[in-house]
Amino acid sequence: MSNNKVSNEENLGKAKSYLQRFSENITGHFINGQFEVPTNAETFENFTPVDNTTLGKVVSGSNQDIDRACDAAKAAFADWRDMSGAARKKLLNHFADKIAARAEEIALIESMDCGQPIRFMKQAALRGADNFRFFADKAPEAVNGQALYQDVHTNYTMRMPVGPVGVITPWNTPFMLSTWKIAPALAAGCTVVHKPAEMSPLSALLLAEVAKEAGIPDGVLNTVNGFGETAGKRLTEHPAIKAVALVGESATGTHIMRQAADTLKRVHFELGGKNPVIVFDDADFDRALDAVVFMLYSLNGQRCTSSSRLLVQQGIQAEFMAALKERVENLKVGHPLDPETEVGPVVSRAHFQKVMSYMDVAKSDGATTAVGGYAIETLGDGNYICPTLFTEADNSMRVAREEIFGPVLTAMTFDSEEDAVRMANDTPYGLAGYVWTKDVGRTMRLAKNLEAGMLWFNSENNRNLPSPFGGMKASGIGRDGGDFSFDFYMETKNVCIAHDLHNVPVLGR
Ligand code: NAD
Repeated sequence: MSNNKVSNEENLGKAKSYLQRFSENITGHFINGQFEVPTNAETFENFTPVDNTTLGKVVSGSNQDIDRACDAAKAAFADWRDMSGAARKKLLNHFADKIAARAEEIALIESMDCGQPIRFMKQAALRGADNFRFFADKAPEAVNGQALYQDVHTNYTMRMPVGPVGVITPWNTPFMLSTWKIAPALAAGCTVVHKPAEMSPLSALLLAEVAKEAGIPDGVLNTVNGFGETAGKRLTEHPAIKAVALVGESATGTHIMRQAADTLKRVHFELGGKNPVIVFDDADFDRALDAVVFMLYSLNGQRCTSSSRLLVQQGIQAEFMAALKERVENLKVGHPLDPETEVGPVVSRAHFQKVMSYMDVAKSDGATTAVGGYAIETLGDGNYICPTLFTEADNSMRVAREEIFGPVLTAMTFDSEEDAVRMANDTPYGLAGYVWTKDVGRTMRLAKNLEAGMLWFNSENNRNLPSPFGGMKASGIGRDGGDFSFDFYMETKNVCIAHDLHNVPVLGR
């Protein structure tokens, strides 16, 4: 493990100059095209995970702030809905260009705000631009439905945007995830009120600035900072909001479903996971090893699709675990702006304590701590946790069942394919699963038998924007990606037209 006490000077210098305005000014909202800090607003400090010093104050949005944002989204809806698909396509592509132009600034600010290493955040900012480009190009076809011909009637369907929507996002890759939800909503013709995570509010303001620069009409995208229990709750209850898209914890999904019930909103949830990666004896050993390390320790293990449960088949268990142990011991922990850093600090002190609490849980569960298990204090006052590997675990242990959401992997052994499937499915979650095998028949059987919304065979997390993204069981409701996103943000209308050939039933003649 490296002792990267001094981060890359160039990155740090740039980040400091980008962050200066956040320390000198209160970060507020973006409502109806205006950046604002309401008078007498309550604020909270936004701490960086690098050393737990403050990056500045942020407004804690009130019910009135949310109400104003929802009213603005409602007022802007008809014009945005009625804009031609071609015009929306042009505007949203322009939006994507503006994101790409500020990608470095977004990545540096985001790394300091949420602790994710710059090597990943650079990609995340550009993926944000890709998300906008992809959905911009689909905007003209969003309305298209099906033609369903019958002998005496023809049915056709068309889609209409559902109305103003609420988008509520988490802190793990805040910018990229916000664009993943907001781009399809805007392309569909919905207006948006965005409530970013309280722990990583800065890049949401940049997104709002990009919207303004790109010429998105006032009220089409609104951003209200604040806490889930207050601003988030009000947003999910507001009558003007027709649908709520959440990326967050499973428990938050439960709260939002309750909160949104009185106004009968449709909900779309991308929630937690405890995703298995299954490595069979016949796997390509080296590629599987690379993928296992990458899909847990990248993004500090703070990734919904991370493969946090490793299931290794008996035959290669000893060799695979020895190689894995060496790789985990070798991970470079350091300042998130250091380009060499592979694992940065976890997002907040509270989250650090949560992840650290599992070190004791593992012991009392009876798992072996093969690597790590402690905090790294030599890197200063940040939330640095030594990459940790629990071995000799079984699926009943809390470290195998609960989403830890940190650089912590729990490894288990299995004998047969049936064992692997049983263990993989024995979880409340069902977001993703990864399988390493060269056996094609087994691939087909597991594709059918594993309970997860997304399965990757002989691959880590490849993303394809038209493919459906989402989970089953406690991992979510609904799918994002391509046309699946439009199905959520739009109403399908069926139009049935008679050919004037059928007999209309006659009563009372
Ligand atoms: P969280 O659920 O605590 O917060 C997510 C958002 O919900 C925040 O903006 C928060 O303020 C808001 N919120 C909280 N309570 C609310 C309420 N009662 N009403 C309205 N809004 C409320 O999640 P987090 O800790 O920010 O993020 C980590 C979680 O997100 C993990 O469980 C992770 O697996 C999940 N996640 C899932 C995906 C996915 O695609 N499935 C992607 C990334 C993260």
